[in-house]
Amino acid sequence: MKYSNESVNCPNCRNDSCHNFYSLYEQPVSENILYTNQTDSLQAQCGDIELFLCEHCGLVFNWAFESHKLDYGAEYKYTLPPSTYFEAFINELAKDLIETYNLKHKHIVEIGCGKGDFLNLLCKLGNNSGVGYDTSYEGPLETNNGKINFVREHFSPKGMKHIPDMICCRQVIEHITNPGNLISTVKSVLGKDALTTLFFETPDFAWILKNMVLWDIYYEHCSYFTEESLIGLFTTNGFKILRNEKIFNDQYLRIDARLDLSLYKKTYPKISANTVQTVNNFKVQAKKRLTNIRSKSKDFSTKGSWVIWGGAAKGVTFCNLVKHEVGDKLHVVDINPIRQGKFVPVSGYPIISPDKLVYIKPHTILIMNGNYQKEIEMTLKNLGIMANVICVDDL
Ligand SMILES: [Zn+2]
Repeated sequence: MKYSNESVNCPNCRNDSCHNFYSLYEQPVSENILYTNQTDSLQAQCGDIELFLCEHCGLVFNWAFESHKLDYGAEYKYTLPPSTYFEAFINELAKDLIETYNLKHKHIVEIGCGKGDFLNLLCKLGNNSGVGYDTSYEGPLETNNGKINFVREHFSPKGMKHIPDMICCRQVIEHITNPGNLISTVKSVLGKDALTTLFFETPDFAWILKNMVLWDIYYEHCSYFTEESLIGLFTTNGFKILRNEKIFNDQYLRIDARLDLSLYKKTYPKISANTVQTVNNFKVQAKKRLTNIRSKSKDFSTKGSWVIWGGAAKGVTFCNLVKHEVGDKLHVVDINPIRQGKFVPVSGYPIISPDKLVYIKPHTILIMNGNYQKEIEMTLKNLGIMANVICVDDL
């Protein structure tokens, strides 16, 4: 454990009004580093989670997070899920950004572009040029006749030739210990009169709290936001909010913003008492929720083979929450070929392709993300699999 009785300051606003409300130990440091053999997966690097709420700026952060344990290098395999639901979501999002901000023949920068799929889509749909930054990027550094370039480094102003029309940043800010520093770095590339639109997307911690989604709290995510704290982060740093909304069936927050230095403040606004109360309720309810999912998982194993559908972050976290109760009766299914044939870090469960279910013959299939339930049920129907299908939200 990193801390004992030392006072805890918020990494964002430095305030010391922070309290611990959720703890989990010996969790895999990454859900996206995959193992080709079970022995290695069982010995995967672990880290602790000590979630604190800053009662001033509202940031939720893992005080026990140690950044040196995580390596976002080539071994880090994050790809967009190959799902029809997700594909429709991401296409709709890209089209909306292009239409709303007239991103045609413009220049786009993406912070944390992964394999570059979203940047490529934005550039293709609007005939735009782009630069993607990601330390785990593996493809060619130049594509589309030089219109799209990739930099295998963290985002920085270094080498930036001109001010972009848009900076997008999907599912990245939650991986950063001091989100205010990232916003400052973004600001430093803009210049005071820039009309650049920022588009940021991150999990909505209010959704996690409300639905008790314990498997959405994992080591890679060291910072969590509600709509209130995310708006506070941008406005305090001198950005005007153009649009903020919940997307992906309320699981994510979207914020569009533009520089307006007249809004800049030296201190963050204080969050509402309601947020503090909600987090305090979660502190009590999370223990009951954990006991409940462990008990139900144990019951599933008593009845024979069962599977979790979804071997990405939610599935990996769920496996590690229940590993002491379920024994060897559990398999994990994933439609993403890069995960199939691999093993879940720390808990060591095998990840299989859906067609292997005909041999496993599971009595229960637990779906880790309700957004994909319809397409999963269609796949099961096509494979002729008869099993009890439950969404984890209903467990
Ligand atoms: Zn704070």
